[in-house]
Amino acid sequence: MKKVYLEDIRSNRYDSNIERLGEHSDTCICCGQRTAQRSFIQMTTSCWLIDEDKEVEDSQGMFPIGPECLKKFNRLAR
Ligand SMILES: [Zn+2]
Repeated sequence: MKKVYLEDIRSNRYDSNIERLGEHSDTCICCGQRTAQRSFIQMTTSCWLIDEDKEVEDSQGMFPIGPECLKKFNRLAR
């Protein structure tokens, strides 16, 4: 299972994007931009993003992730 800590991947434009675009069901968890692509990533209660389809015990649920941020996830993942 690959994982990346949210703070390590989150764009510094996230807050301004949320402010500008609002928060929607397709808002990328990493950069705050809306994404047409239906990719999701799971986040734990301790804010690790994990590459796991099955819900883990301490899950906060599945969140949309854009294609560029998914690439970044795969680059940063350990
Ligand atoms: Zn993104």
